[in-house]
Amino acid sequence: MKRFIFLGPPGAGKGTQAVVVAQARAITHVSTGDLLRSAVANQTDLGQKAKAYMDRGDLVPDSLVLGMVEERLAQADAQSGWILDGFPRNVAQAKALDELLTAIHQPLEGAVNFEVPDEILTTRLLSRGRQDDTEPVVRHRLQVYHDQTAPLIAFYQERGLLISIAGNAAVDEVTTRIEAAIA
Ligand code: AMP
Repeated sequence: MKRFIFLGPPGAGKGTQAVVVAQARAITHVSTGDLLRSAVANQTDLGQKAKAYMDRGDLVPDSLVLGMVEERLAQADAQSGWILDGFPRNVAQAKALDELLTAIHQPLEGAVNFEVPDEILTTRLLSRGRQDDTEPVVRHRLQVYHDQTAPLIAFYQERGLLISIAGNAAVDEVTTRIEAAIA
């Protein structure tokens, strides 16, 4: 597989695993969270619009995120494959991604779903020390995940693309599980 998404709650280890797996397969890691944080740091127009949503732990509006992803997937290094980490985050984004990928003839091959219990996520997120990792924001981001992102599990299951991984294990062990599932 060379085109897949990493799906799962905040703190599930998607970003850590995406870096390792993308490097091993010589494909591109696309993290919408990283792209947005860099837009905020560079004070771009997009960054200025996105910042307040991110600080609260809300999703940045689809219109902003979709354009950013489309642009990123059009770049040269994305033509040999990618892992989308943190995108799509809701059903509207998943449908828009579907349309985009159909248009560019690069179908999605799998959706790797990281399963990690909420209690563990909260502990992990609070120990990470990122600016949007304070306790009330963490709680809100988990709620947003359950309300808006978790429905994507059924969405990809129905399309025969879902691959679930138990993410509550050591980093190397989770990598091994992913590699086995997407071989
Ligand atoms: P992450 O690094 O994936 O946890 O994302 C950090 C923050 O960026 C999220 O809490 C959202 O505010 C925003 N974000 C990242 N990806 C998306 C997305 N696909 N749609 C909307 N907002 C996003």
